[in-house]
Amino acid sequence: MSQTEKTMREKTETAVAGEPVMPDVSVNLVRPNEPVIGRVVESELCTLGKRKSAAFIRHVAIDVSGTPLAGNFRAGQSFGVLPPGETDRGKPHKLRLYSISSPTRGEDGEGNVLATSCKRVVDEHWDDHKLFLGVCSNYLCDAQIGDEIRVTGPSGKRFVLPVDPSQHDYVFFATGTGIAPFRALSIDLLEGGYASKVTLVMGSPYRTDLIYDEQLRELDEKYENFRYVTAISRETQDDLDRRLYVQDRIKHDPLGTGPGSLSEQLASDRTLIYVCGLAGMEIGIFRGLFDALGRDAASAYVQVDDEIAGDPSSWNKRMINRQIRPTKRVFLEVY
Ligand SMILES: Cc1cc2nc3c(=O)[nH]c(=O)nc-3n(C[C@H](O)[C@H](O)[C@H](O)COP(=O)(O)OP(=O)(O)OC[C@H]3O[C@@H](n4cnc5c(N)ncnc54)[C@H](O)[C@@H]3O)c2cc1C
Repeated sequence: MSQTEKTMREKTETAVAGEPVMPDVSVNLVRPNEPVIGRVVESELCTLGKRKSAAFIRHVAIDVSGTPLAGNFRAGQSFGVLPPGETDRGKPHKLRLYSISSPTRGEDGEGNVLATSCKRVVDEHWDDHKLFLGVCSNYLCDAQIGDEIRVTGPSGKRFVLPVDPSQHDYVFFATGTGIAPFRALSIDLLEGGYASKVTLVMGSPYRTDLIYDEQLRELDEKYENFRYVTAISRETQDDLDRRLYVQDRIKHDPLGTGPGSLSEQLASDRTLIYVCGLAGMEIGIFRGLFDALGRDAASAYVQVDDEIAGDPSSWNKRMINRQIRPTKRVFLEVY
């Protein structure tokens, strides 16, 4: 890319109205070479469907009081877990990151207890079809109340709320354990008393896989400015006889295109989009924005080069930040 093209691109990107002012947040107060000890204080399955889910996802809460993490993590950030033991090659297991699902006040209201929603990685091994168990997720989900866990963090500077949250409205797209930071961010926004509109779109293959579903429904009931909308990809919806991915909810919103709908919200300069969950979901969301809003309106969130703009089905992950550039009104955390 030539210098002129670069400058032009920067100009168009900063020309987007409604860009947020982001805070400076503390990160890496506890580093992996000197982890601190947290203690498990709660571990509950958080897939609360009436039928049992095939996935095991646990809300695990860890008391970090007396460590530099206490009072120093924010909704939207992650923390690190160092599992004990060694790899097949005799090296200590590496750190894994988990999104904090607790609001900034922590589970306890004092910033001493942080939680995550951890999904057990359970599979057949690619090579020999023997049982494959992810090291850290199973360690964390196996942990009993009182067990000590080596933790680090916080990490993540950008997936947080702007300096003045009231200046914006929010559309959150989650798949799977990507719901964790949105539980945290939604509670911060709602308990903070901001009038901002918050729509959380949660996607899962089956209803039984929805995470924190009951709690999110309660928040939807309690707060007028909060909407919780689900998109089930392998079952039909309660309001629609078809399967949906999160991005399909822009077009197929139970509120249509009327007041309070996603289309209305996305057309506003106040709106920020946050995306968290399975790597690859961001492409689907960019396509969905293009499809539902049209290229011009979608450019508030994603700017796409001319040569690929006509064929969204050709878009792939490698194009992100090159030919497909999310604007500063979009926050991505996919893994
Ligand atoms: C910013 C961030 C936030 C995150 N937040 C969360 C969260 O909130 N909740 C959550 O549950 N996770 C979260 N994760 C993912 C988490 O960090 C771990 O990657 C996840 O728990 C798996 O770790 P593990 O040690 O259990 O699996 P590992 O032992 O590391 O196994 C997974 C790896 O093994 C390999 N593998 C997978 N399946 C097979 C197979 N069948 N055969 C052979 N090899 C295989 C793959 O290379 C894969 O990367 C997050 C990740 C990031 C980067």
